[in-house]
Amino acid sequence: MNAPQPRAGVLKVQPYVAGESTIANVKRVIKLASNEGALGPSPKAVAAARGTAQSLCRYPDGGCVELRQALARHYHLDAANITCGAGSDELIGILIRAYAGAGDEVLCSQYGFLMYAIGATAVGATPVMAPEKDITADIDSLLRHVSPKTRLVFLANPNNPTGTYLPASEIRRLHRGLPKNVLLVLDSAYTEYMTEADYESGVELAATADNVVVTRTFSKIHALGGLRVGWCTGAPAVIDVINRVRGPFNVSTPAQNAAIAALADQGHVDKVREHTRRWRDRVTTALRKLGFTVTDSFGNFVLINFGDTTRADAADAHLRRHGIILRPLKPYGLTHCLRATIGTGGEMRAMLAALKTF
Ligand SMILES: *Cc1c(COP(=O)(O)O)cnc(C)c1O
Repeated sequence: MNAPQPRAGVLKVQPYVAGESTIANVKRVIKLASNEGALGPSPKAVAAARGTAQSLCRYPDGGCVELRQALARHYHLDAANITCGAGSDELIGILIRAYAGAGDEVLCSQYGFLMYAIGATAVGATPVMAPEKDITADIDSLLRHVSPKTRLVFLANPNNPTGTYLPASEIRRLHRGLPKNVLLVLDSAYTEYMTEADYESGVELAATADNVVVTRTFSKIHALGGLRVGWCTGAPAVIDVINRVRGPFNVSTPAQNAAIAALADQGHVDKVREHTRRWRDRVTTALRKLGFTVTDSFGNFVLINFGDTTRADAADAHLRRHGIILRPLKPYGLTHCLRATIGTGGEMRAMLAALKTF
């Protein structure tokens, strides 16, 4: 033991595997592996990022004041109850580091977004996975798995990679059933795709409860994943904790300015939402006609069930030969499935054509 050793837990982490973007010997790749917005970012957001080129020698505004004010106006929140991060992943990691440690438990749903378990393991805490029903989070199951060691509960709604969601009544039932000292983190990365009447992003609950945080991102419908910008809102005490722990300049100037412009361009957001929902329905119907099992999805992706691991692996290989990359889900234990992001119409036609010959 002469070499430096990391804290307990760190070497137990299985590093997050990002969606691939290249295939050997294939020039034009169709990348449907990371749920990036189908139509790219708003041109106004791109222009705003470019506009910062002359001032890159300056540190960014560490308080993200303008961005927080824009978010507060748009979502009818108090800017003081908002903080921003280098993607919502950073905020998820900070929340885990700040509220959990060795011996604690972080409760997630069985097929919940993997970063929660990774973050928990890295701080020496134990990720506890509550079994789901019909690959949908199950509130009774989550509540049954709360223990005196539980510090945080993470729930993505809609969830990635399953695409399923829970209505507001169920989220509120989960909140009512949790001890007051447990922090409920609602990950609303895909909330902008939702139009369902029984759905809430959780922002309303976070505005009144002392133990709820909602995380949001500019990476999905706003398609600014390359800039790394997300935000969260919750009780002032929780936002204060995040602000103490985060880096003082964690969101770059291009990211802040592009996010402000993206938020202002709701016409673009509406266009992407309508495109995505239309193609999600078409793709789901077409895949079912081909005989595949597809879960009803509420995100910008669909979960395709190939029946068993061998067939899913073969489908993955077949699609790659056609230059198309979907997301294998082995770390989720969904080895019989692939996840396909809803892309452009042309990309969806190419994927369906390739799967027709599988
Ligand atoms: C993509 C995704 C995130 C991460 O988003 P960033 O803001 O890019 O870090 C968080 N949660 C879920 C459920 C996601 O799918």
